Amino acid sequence: MKIVMLGAPGAGKGTQAKKIAAKYGIPHISTGDIFRANLKAGTELGLKAKEYMDRGALVPDSLTLELIMDRFKEDDCKEGYVLDGFPRTIPQAEALTEALKKINDKLDFAVNVEVPDEAIVNRMSGRRACLQCGGTYHILYNPPKVEGKCDACGGDLILRADDSPETVQHRLEVYHNQTQPLIDYYKEEGIFKEVDGTQDMEKVFEDIVKILAD
Ligand code: AMP
Repeated sequence: MKIVMLGAPGAGKGTQAKKIAAKYGIPHISTGDIFRANLKAGTELGLKAKEYMDRGALVPDSLTLELIMDRFKEDDCKEGYVLDGFPRTIPQAEALTEALKKINDKLDFAVNVEVPDEAIVNRMSGRRACLQCGGTYHILYNPPKVEGKCDACGGDLILRADDSPETVQHRLEVYHNQTQPLIDYYKEEGIFKEVDGTQDMEKVFEDIVKILAD
């Protein structure tokens, strides 16, 4: 099964993507996580990506596409994947459609986790991320067991630079201008589905599972 998760930054699509990956035994591929892992490892790609990420801008398509196409070649992608944070622009979506066409394949679902902007701004200020493993938490809605520490790996939790209020505002603008058009793109492809992302995390997941069962 090949799934694309859509939604504004902070809509909770990463959390849902991880749950889908665990339930269906497919990899969760987050371009944001891959960029952050590269940054942590001090690779050239990581350093190039950092200048865009820190100000809430998108990393150029060429760089992002190179990275994701490499990732698709790995063995664990054979049975499918759930994509989180990719595609984020129409050219990225077109490149993905083309790459799949070449191997006689296509996406199964594009699931939009819909959350209004006001709720996003509220949520992001409480978001905390583990720099070590990429795990994400929310101080109110999804707190770690021990304050400031990651449940999964014990790493320190931080407010990511790109989750600061000014950057969030900019990321939302970028989302509306560059990523929201993907909704119409996938409607035309006939694979667009939507869930109400303001609901409880478990209810959102239930709704997604119903969609994927169709
Ligand atoms: P995320 O963790 O998905 O919110 O991504 C964090 C940041 O990584 C974004 O604000 C972008 O700067 C960059 N990024 C992640 N995925 C993409 C993508 N598909 N295209 C361009 N930039 C991306």
